[in-house]
Amino acid sequence: MSIGLVIPIYNEEKGIINNLKKILETINKDEIDITQIIIVDDGSTDDSVMILKDFLPLDSRLELVSFTRNFGKEAAIYAGLLNCNRQAAIVMDSDLQHPPSLIRLMVEAWREGFDVVEACKSKDSHISFLRRWMTRLFYSIFAYVSEMNLEGQTDFKLLDRQVIDAYCNLPERKRFFRGLISWLGFSTKQVWFEVPLRQGDSSKWSLVKLARLAMVAITSFSSSMLHLVSFAAATCFIISFIFASISLYQKICGIAVSGFTTINILVLFIGSIIMFSIGQVSLYLEHLFDENKNRPIYIINKKKSYKNKEGFDGY
Ligand code: UDP
Ligand code: MG
Repeated sequence: MSIGLVIPIYNEEKGIINNLKKILETINKDEIDITQIIIVDDGSTDDSVMILKDFLPLDSRLELVSFTRNFGKEAAIYAGLLNCNRQAAIVMDSDLQHPPSLIRLMVEAWREGFDVVEACKSKDSHISFLRRWMTRLFYSIFAYVSEMNLEGQTDFKLLDRQVIDAYCNLPERKRFFRGLISWLGFSTKQVWFEVPLRQGDSSKWSLVKLARLAMVAITSFSSSMLHLVSFAAATCFIISFIFASISLYQKICGIAVSGFTTINILVLFIGSIIMFSIGQVSLYLEHLFDENKNRPIYIINKKKSYKNKEGFDGY
């Protein structure tokens, strides 16, 4: 029942060796059965890879997957999980903000039978006020549109083999790890930790990168943005109707500016037709969008199911 560790890195030359040493020290001390450590270099432009190449031969468990360019942490996690061939995998950051001392607890929960063990933040006092506020806003919007509450969640997760397979077999290209793992629906245990200070350089997530991930998360878990179009169309139609009625009333009472009523009604009418048409198109687009994601209709829990021969239909 050995476990793999997946660590995405991007421009971590300052802290990576010290941090890896600490991670190795902890898993050795706690006698955790980690037999594969996959470091995924997400296209670092600094000396991270060069430094790592000297360090990797010192421990036979260490492996390096290096991207041609910065494809993003989501891609790095996916690549790490695809290359992990152990019974479970733990995804963790390289900056010690995901405390390695928690791994023992996570493995214990997995051995008790949980398929996913997720480490959640009870407190993160090291991020700026703006980022904290934006994160909170994102999670509130996400929870509202997707009916999934991911508040406090991180990418620090232990996944059982069947979760890794199900995750890697999801067909979608734009991935939001936290959301998708939750969507898969396997039995989950949460463990809590206080986020320590980042070791090494500063955060590798710019606000633009975070905003991009937030958009991927929201649009891939809900088509509510398209509902906004229909909502706007209905609102415009009602407003147009009111204004058209007022114009007509003014015309009948003889207080309208000459020629204004016809133009006003025409503009409002054409505007409403256009908005209504966009609303209709968005309904079909929503349907196409859901079909196009191509997500499986169900996920089978292979541990709980029983079949007389090898294999089940679908994930
Ligand atoms: N990371 C990555 N690709 C990126 C940005 C970050 O692989 O484009 C890695 C980074 O090296 C670190 C982890 O993802 O190991 C978390 O990044 P960071 O600590 O900057 O994020 P934060 O803790 O601020 O959310
Ligand atoms: Mg960090």
